[in-house]
Amino acid sequence: RSKRRGRSQITVYSEEIAEEMRRSTEVEQALRRAIIADEVAVNFQPIINIADGALLGFEALARWTDRDLGFISPALFIPLAEERGFIDSLTDTLLRKAAETAKNWPSHLFLSFNMSSIQLTDPATCHNVIAILNSVGLDPRRVELEITETAMMSDPEAAGEVVNELRSFGIRVSLDDFGTGQSSLGRLRDFAFDKVKIDRSFVNEITVDRSSGTIVKAILAMCEGLDLKVIAEGIETPEQAAKLLELGCRAGQGYLFGKAVNAETTYTLIKLERETRSRQERELRA
Ligand code: C2E
Ligand code: MG
Ligand code: MG
Ligand code: MG
Repeated sequence: RSKRRGRSQITVYSEEIAEEMRRSTEVEQALRRAIIADEVAVNFQPIINIADGALLGFEALARWTDRDLGFISPALFIPLAEERGFIDSLTDTLLRKAAETAKNWPSHLFLSFNMSSIQLTDPATCHNVIAILNSVGLDPRRVELEITETAMMSDPEAAGEVVNELRSFGIRVSLDDFGTGQSSLGRLRDFAFDKVKIDRSFVNEITVDRSSGTIVKAILAMCEGLDLKVIAEGIETPEQAAKLLELGCRAGQGYLFGKAVNAETTYTLIKLERETRSRQERELRA
């Protein structure tokens, strides 16, 4: 009896798997088409100084809405493009678009761009990135590349070389989603990063759970000792922002300050921010 049930369960699972495969093949085909048709967009989430709201830069985030399948999260389509072997062409178009937008920003603002794990172990990555930045005309020193711990782990040696090569061109490298991967501390010792982005799971809890606050405090102290800058991710409430400031974290991003917006809107935000700033300065002088 149990045998029979076991077998029918296997049938159910394999049908689910088959359905999942049909679905991801459908998404893959739509994505390949969208890349060629130039329908994958880049939006930009502001990164700000928590203390005074000044803009520091923007993180580029991929956005894709398929005409038939609707909105699809990058958390789904980026891994799919990695798996199916076309993340390189996708990243090239995304980086080019992001750089073209960033080139029009005032030069003190930086562009932060997410690298996929596969590219981190590809020795051609640095050359490709520099070639794109040069052809667009964006100074590599205004660019930050975000990588995750999981990405570093598949081939730490190769990844370390890519990181060092990127940094030799003045590109900054930040460790994304810090605290969620494994052996975080080892990564910080073995690799030359410029920045750490504290994962939003810690920020979420910072005002309700004492241990999250303690962890964030420890991360900040450690980063200061290691000469690493810090950005807190996923700040949603004024209370979280206040707590982060109190702990000594100055840079942040999150829905409290703004979701990712399209290229045109970044220009508007920059203009508004400049106007507010000069009004404040006038008021201070008056
Ligand atoms: P990530 O790099 O950690 O990006 C931050 C994610 O958190 C973004 O989700 C952003 O929209 C979301 N977020 C920002 N502030 C808040 C907040 O206050 N509350 C909440 N709940 N969420 C917030 P998104 O855009 O869905 O991207 C998901 C992930 O997909 C990214 O995580 C990144 O790993 C990946 N990704 C996105 N764009 C690209 C890309 O162009 N290339 C690569 N390789 N990966 C990308
Ligand atoms: Mg990121
Ligand atoms: Mg992140
Ligand atoms: Mg994240």
